[in-house]
This record gives sequence, C-alpha cells and structure tokens, in this order.
Amino acid sequence: MAPPSTRTLPPIRRIVVKIGSAVLAPGGSLDQAAADRLAADIAAARARGVQVAVVSSGAVASGYSALGLKAPPKTIVRKQAAAAVGQSRLMAAWNAALLPHGLVAAQILYTAEDLEHRERFLSARRTLNELLGAGVVPVINENDTVSYEEIKLGDNDRLSALTADLADADLLLILSSVSGLYESGKAGKVIHTIQSAKTAQAHVRPDKTVVGTGGMQTKLTAAAAAASWGIPTVVAGGHEHHVIRRVLAGEVLGTLFPAARITKARARKRWLGFGARARGTITIDAGAARALTQRGASLLPSGVTGVRGSFDRGAPVQIAVEGGAVIARGVSAYSSDDVARIAGKRSSQIEGVLGHYYAEEVVHRDDLVVGE
Ligand code: GLU
Repeated sequence: MAPPSTRTLPPIRRIVVKIGSAVLAPGGSLDQAAADRLAADIAAARARGVQVAVVSSGAVASGYSALGLKAPPKTIVRKQAAAAVGQSRLMAAWNAALLPHGLVAAQILYTAEDLEHRERFLSARRTLNELLGAGVVPVINENDTVSYEEIKLGDNDRLSALTADLADADLLLILSSVSGLYESGKAGKVIHTIQSAKTAQAHVRPDKTVVGTGGMQTKLTAAAAAASWGIPTVVAGGHEHHVIRRVLAGEVLGTLFPAARITKARARKRWLGFGARARGTITIDAGAARALTQRGASLLPSGVTGVRGSFDRGAPVQIAVEGGAVIARGVSAYSSDDVARIAGKRSSQIEGVLGHYYAEEVVHRDDLVVGE
C-alpha cells in the first residue's frame, strides 16, 4: 500500500521555522534568493492567518568572508567577530526578503541566560507575543557576539526548540540542508514519522555541513525535546520548493516527530518550572478565585488579599483562596514586596504605588495553571 501523501497536523496558528546556515549562507555568503524564497512562503502562511517566528542561523556563515577569513572560523573570538559582521547582513537579507510582501522583520538576539531566568524569560515571551500579535516576523538568533563558549546555547536547533516552547507554537519546522532523517543515516529514504526518539537515534550519523553548527544529532535532540513538550516538529530540506507552505498543508515532507500526548497545560507547567518549589503563596478573594477557575482570567492586583514568603519577580508561586485551599500555581510578574503593596489596588494604581510597572496583572493567565 502506498504511504499516505498527507499527514494530520493539529490546527496551526503559530509556527517557529528554524533555518540553518547551510540553507541561507552556503559557501560563506548570504544567499538572498534563499531568503526571498522562504519569505514568499512565510507571507503565504501569514496570509492564512498563521503567525510565523523565524530562528535564523547564518550570522557567522555570512560574516566570516567579509572579515577576511577564507574558511569558517574555529576560535570563539573569531566566531564572535564574524557574527558581529554577519548578523546585520542577515537582517538586511530578511528585511529585503520580507518587505515586498508588506511584512516587517524584527531582530531578537537571545543568550542562554535570557531563556533560563524566569524574569528574563517572561520578558522575552511578552515581547515575542507582542511582535507576533502585531503581525511582525521576529527573526531570532543567538547573540553570538556576546555569548562565549561556557554560556552558549550552542546550536540554533536547540534555540529553535526553546523558542517554540517560549512562543507556545503549534509546530516547529527545522529546515536544513538535508531532506529529513534518513534511514540508517544514508542519503536515500527519508523516514516520514518518528515513533520514538530512541529508535531515531540509530539513524543518525555524526557528520555535519561545513558551515552549520549542528548536524543531524542536534536536530534530533531538539525535535525530540519539542515533541516531548507537546509541539509536533518536522525536520525537512530548506531547499525544497515551497517547503513551509507544503508542510503547513500537511504534505508528507521531511521527518515528523509527533507531539507527545500531553496537554498544553502540562507542557506549559513543565516550562514554567512548576516542578520547582513554589517560593511563596499569593492569597486571593473569592471573586478572583471564581475569575481564575471559571473564566480562565488573569490574576489582577484587585483580587489579591495578601502574600506569604519572599520571592522575586518571575518566581513560581502558589495561589490560595484567603483562609482556604491552594487553587492554582503560576509565575508572579511582581516580587513579594511589590505584591504586598499593590494587593487590593486597581491595575491603574500600580505605577503610582510602586513607582514602576511591569504588567497590569500579578499573574498572567498564560503563566497560570489552575487546579494544581
Ligand atoms: N548562531 C549561529 C549563527 O547564526 C548559528 C548556530 C547554528 O548553526 O546552529 O551563525
């Protein structure tokens, strides 16, 4: 029986597309035509109402020649220097590619610390959401120029999985110079669906492209991680004609890592570090409890009655009804001192009381899991 030509993906409203250096800057200089081609697909997705964030490699690859180097740099300082030259070229290419479609690009550069610390993570996510909501195409890369070996995320496959989680994406698409994961690691037959990361491992060979950092191993690790967090992931060839459009249409292209069967809430709970010990408890009144449990609302300061424990902004906290049970867990947008001072106040009073303002809610609904 012939394999089916389409696959069932969940409804997709937000996608993260990772594009490797070997796709965008083969041979050490930017391939504008490749960016143009991919931008046309991104525009088609946007036109269908799909929000797209791009994780774009290629800073080092498109910078080293201009730096006067003949081959991709090996030392960290040269990589940092090449990235400083190449990152602006990369953005110029994306701007030029997206502009004819009426799309605006935004540059985001992360370091590992931005994604590991709760406070910075929250801020990164808010900005990403703001951009995506505004119809902008965020173009994300590691901040290679300031990330030295010990603190590096290292490869953009990993960054793309973290970004997909950060963005709460419905699909992660990793585009590389190969068409997917090959059977036995030899060019030939692409495995269409991975059932388990363990068996997939047998098909990985350690080689990688000259300009890329990752190779298939990092793609497999990233794809398996994203899938385990509930985000289906496809690894496909960036050179394929209309690859983004076709994958979104459900065509069997590249290798699919199906999402593990976990609910969004559980995936989010994992991301928010809910396994970690709560640093304190915010107590709320009955009205706020109803708003949280029945309406899926955010927790506003007006519903807060008090706070126990001492925590920083961005800490995991418990939320309990005054004198009663814990009904939710979440990430506090304000420190315990701040929460104590704005308890019972209206959101419009926050800035006046504290002298600073981060958000109108104490715990945003996206950072909240009820009934935990
Ligand atoms: N951040 C690197 C760059 O833009 C790429 C890392 C990777 O290839 O995974 O050059």
